[in-house]
Amino acid sequence: MKQVAIITGASRGIGAAIAQRLAKDGFAVVVNYAGNVAEADKVVGAVRADGGTAIAVQADVASAADVRALFERTIAELGRVDVLVNNAGIMPPNLPQLAATDDDIFDRLVAVNLKGSFNTMREAAAKLEQGGRIINFSSSLVGTLLPGYSAYVATKAGVEAMTSILAKELRGKNITVNAVAPGPTATALFLDGKTPELIERLAKMTPLERLGQPDDIASAVSFLAGPDGSWINGQTLRANGGMV
Ligand code: NDP
Repeated sequence: MKQVAIITGASRGIGAAIAQRLAKDGFAVVVNYAGNVAEADKVVGAVRADGGTAIAVQADVASAADVRALFERTIAELGRVDVLVNNAGIMPPNLPQLAATDDDIFDRLVAVNLKGSFNTMREAAAKLEQGGRIINFSSSLVGTLLPGYSAYVATKAGVEAMTSILAKELRGKNITVNAVAPGPTATALFLDGKTPELIERLAKMTPLERLGQPDDIASAVSFLAGPDGSWINGQTLRANGGMV
């Protein structure tokens, strides 16, 4: 039986690249999505065309009931869960500074990025196989602390803290818990609402002078999910070309 990886938010962007990479690595993959069934089906189709195993499962990670159902369906259809990649996240374009941030934006960021990661980690802690891996998603903005990102960064700093604590709490289960913290990466989440000049300026913040690509981040996740990553535990790996 193949090992099974759930990738949340895998219909587009970084998550879609991770699903395709982990399928190439030999995992059966669960392509979770919130609303974009057509894009999720495309990712499943690409994996299957390559000879891999994939299913698409809708679930809003902000809902504990949806996340429970996501794990239950995975086990019913694929038999087990070995890897959780907690990639689903939101960053609405043109975030205002803290003083102008309204309750709706703050609450939505917390619900999806922080509670969503909590919901999936809680389920994974109970259901992952021995030798399992949990890979959360932070952001290198936790290091740069740029103005305008206070609420978003607060959710990601919370994810980093839960990563290290859960790693300790899973003592004895042979399950590692780490986080990947990308820098600016060419997806809708980063590109939407920015001028070409701003995108260029942010890309140049890294000594490698380019934006990250979804495959750059998928490579880091593949390392943490695979045999070579087995001694890394409770860490946040910044994948950002050296920006911070
Ligand atoms: P995208 O906006 O490109 O894709 C987001 C994905 O998450 C989509 O598949 C979307 O599904 C899914 N999603 C959104 N909300 C939910 C939800 N409530 N429940 C389930 N799935 C959901 O984002 P990226 O690929 O850029 O981001 C991936 C992760 O990387 C995020 O956690 C983000 O914070 C982090 N990150 C990204 C950076 C960047 O520069 N791009 C930098 C640092 C961190 P659907 O298609 O159905 O809407």
